Amino acid sequence: MTQREHRIPPVALTIAGSDSGGGAGIQADIKAMQANGVFAASVITAVTAQNTQAVTAAFELPLELIEAQIDAVWEDLPVAATKTGMLSSATIIELVARKVRQWRMQPLVVDPVMISKSGYPLLKPDAIATLREQLLPLATLVTPNAHEAAHLTGLPIETVEDLYEAARRIKAMGPQAVLVKGGHLSREAEAVDVLYDGKRFEEFRAPRIDTPHTHGTGCTYASAIAANLARGFSLSESVRRAKRYVTEAIRYALPIGHGHGPTHHF
Ligand code: PLP
Repeated sequence: MTQREHRIPPVALTIAGSDSGGGAGIQADIKAMQANGVFAASVITAVTAQNTQAVTAAFELPLELIEAQIDAVWEDLPVAATKTGMLSSATIIELVARKVRQWRMQPLVVDPVMISKSGYPLLKPDAIATLREQLLPLATLVTPNAHEAAHLTGLPIETVEDLYEAARRIKAMGPQAVLVKGGHLSREAEAVDVLYDGKRFEEFRAPRIDTPHTHGTGCTYASAIAANLARGFSLSESVRRAKRYVTEAIRYALPIGHGHGPTHHF
């Protein structure tokens, strides 16, 4: 074997929900982490029955089982970065926040998943306050899309200026940094994201790709950021690399299934 084949990759962890269709959730996270050069460990919070068209059912795993998964990973593996996705309920968020403190899970990327593209709630509405109060203050980076940023702040988000204002307000909730993603802003020709660390703003722009096949883009983006943080890149460089990765993953998304096809991991 060559030197390169011997190299041991850093380990990243995803704490998220399972998507039986393979396009989003834990499955997207593992593929995106692997493609971004790290070994992915996974803690499953909830199991969804899902395909490219709809989520037909979701079931939360018992708290003891989620806690046992987290402990099993952290007692053994050298986790270099963690990402959270679908957390489903206030009690799961409380547990994860407690374990983040216990195991000092840093860096921590929090993707504040709330609802699927098909409209299925992946976070109970009464859990948004718990997410804001208990998990966001522990995050290295929180990655809301425009819809999630609107729910966190109460602001309507329609323009790039709105992304800046939302970034200011979400930063004030306690994370070290926030990336407000503008891919859903219909008036913009580009997919514009705004990163704010409390000192400076940075914009990340990519051409908007006209495709219905965008299932799992948020999961993919946050996982690629976590993977690059695990590899030791700065936050800004990790976002820059992940933005490039997710743009190509959308460009080459797979038209499989009858609905929104999944992003392509390569
Ligand atoms: N299913 C699970 C388990 C997820 O975690 C997510 C997103 O985070 C989704 C579905 C949503 O996927 P999309 O909105 O990209 O279709």
